Amino acid sequence: MRAYREQAIVLRTYKLGETDRILHLLSTGQGKVRAVAKGVRRPGSRFGGRLEVLSHVDVQLHPGRTLDIVNQVELVHAFAGLRADWSRSACAQAMAEAVDRIAQEGERHVGLFVLLRETLLALEAEPADPAAVLDAALLRLASTAGYHPHLQACAACGAPGAHAVFHLDAGGLLCATCAPVGAQPLAAGVLEGLRTLAQARWEDLDAWAAGVDGRTRRACAALVSSYLTHHLGAPLRAWDLVPR
Ligand SMILES: [Zn+2]
Repeated sequence: MRAYREQAIVLRTYKLGETDRILHLLSTGQGKVRAVAKGVRRPGSRFGGRLEVLSHVDVQLHPGRTLDIVNQVELVHAFAGLRADWSRSACAQAMAEAVDRIAQEGERHVGLFVLLRETLLALEAEPADPAAVLDAALLRLASTAGYHPHLQACAACGAPGAHAVFHLDAGGLLCATCAPVGAQPLAAGVLEGLRTLAQARWEDLDAWAAGVDGRTRRACAALVSSYLTHHLGAPLRAWDLVPR
């Protein structure tokens, strides 16, 4: 088996033995890759500090029986600005965790890589409200992964409109005919908030977050969280660390 080269972002790392680390990488060509970096925890390791979580790297890997082996690493972008600030860092970690849960090994998914990189860049640009960037990123992640939330039309019959009910199982809005009896309607402003999170340019999210009232904002965040949890099967561990 021949060595291969990939652009990748480090999603997660954990210790292996005395000096090694297992890495979860999101690569452009192979989807998620689980690899081992040998000796990376030794002082003076040849990998230096290049394999930190969130680092964008150019990596050469050698296929192994269960885990691929990291041969060489070059840093493309360290995202050092994210690690310097705990709130931005928490948002970036939550996104990396969500991507780690969704990405599949051996399944090339460039859209996922592009979205993760865009999110990290948006967070590194020092937004006043990083949690708004995270909520937007998670909603877009759901779409990228095939769980697109229907926010413009009824998820069941396709009737366009700003319908009142958002239903997790249906995957978005339901019109008055399709909604189950007794379903709770969304509070005023929440649908508009979700649409903004799903579509607005990254740099416009701060203006939205500054202008929306706290209740609407919390309702949008709660819906994003429930929607992700519904599709991932369990809540994100990093969610509670995100400043709200
Ligand atoms: Zn309908």
